[in-house]
Amino acid sequence: MRTGICKLCGKHSDLIEGHIIPKFVGSYLKETSITGRLRNSANPNIPYQDIDKAFFFCKKCEDIMSIDENYFSQDIFYPYHQGISREFNYKFRLGRFLIIQAYRKILFNNYLREFNNQFPPNIIKRINKAKVLFRDFILNEAKSQNEYSNHLLMIDFIEDGGYGLSEYPENINLYLGRALDSSIITSEKGKIIVYTKMCKIICLTSITPKINKSFNDIRVYADGNISYYGEPTLPIEFMHFMFDRCRLSNKIHDSLSVHQKDAISKIALANKDKIENSECTKAILADELLEKKKNVY
Ligand SMILES: [Zn+2]
Repeated sequence: MRTGICKLCGKHSDLIEGHIIPKFVGSYLKETSITGRLRNSANPNIPYQDIDKAFFFCKKCEDIMSIDENYFSQDIFYPYHQGISREFNYKFRLGRFLIIQAYRKILFNNYLREFNNQFPPNIIKRINKAKVLFRDFILNEAKSQNEYSNHLLMIDFIEDGGYGLSEYPENINLYLGRALDSSIITSEKGKIIVYTKMCKIICLTSITPKINKSFNDIRVYADGNISYYGEPTLPIEFMHFMFDRCRLSNKIHDSLSVHQKDAISKIALANKDKIENSECTKAILADELLEKKKNVY
C-alpha cells in the first residue's frame, strides 16, 4: 500500500497496486501455458509470475473499474477463449472496459516516462486531451458512448493465409494467440490508436481521428452485437504493425539466455500432460503448418 493522488478521483488516499492488463488475462495465460509462468518482455531473462502493475488508483476507483473488468472477463474473454461462443450481444460495460484499458495504457506510458521521448508535442496534446475525457467518462460511471471510437477485434490462429503467405513472420500464431502486448500506435498521417492485446482479443481506442472508419466493422457502441472477425482483412498498415510486434517478440525470445531456455524446457518436460492440450502447443503446431505451406508455394 502507498499513499498519493488517485489518478481517477484525484483524491489523496491509499493507493492499491493494480494491473495494467487485467489480472484475469494473466491467470488465463498461466492456466493454459506449458510452464505455468509468464515472461516479461522488458526483461526476458526473468520468469515473471505476474504482469505489469502500478499504484495508480484508490480502492474505491479500482472497485468501480472492476465491475466492467469482471463483465468483460466473464461474458466475453473466457467464453471466447474457451471456444464456447464467437458471437456476443454486449452491454455498455464493454465500451467502458475498452476506455479503461486505453486510460490505463496512457497512464502507464506517462509513468514509464517513455511518453515524452516517444511522441512529438502535437501528439502528446491530443493524447492528454483524450485522457481527461476518458477519466471523466470512467469516474462518472457513464453508460453511453464517448466521442472516441472503440473497437474490439477477436482473432484466432491463421491456418490458411488469406493475406499472402510470404508476409507472415515466423511464430505469427504464437503472437496472435498468446501474446500480451500494448502500445500507443501513431502513423505518419497523424493517426493515434491505443492498442492492447490480450491473447486472442485486441482492444483498440482511436484518438485521432476520433472516429476511425477503417475499423468500422468491429466498432463497439453503447450496446450491440459483435462476433469473431475471421482471418484478418484489416488495414494493411495495421497488419504490418502486428507483424512488427511479432518480430519484436521473436527477438526477445531469441535473446533468452541458454540457461533460461534450458530451464523452460525442463519445466515443460516435467509437465508433459499439460503440453498436449495447452493453447501454447496449439499455437506452435499452427505455426509449423503455416511454415510448411509457405514452403509449398
Ligand atoms: Zn480514486
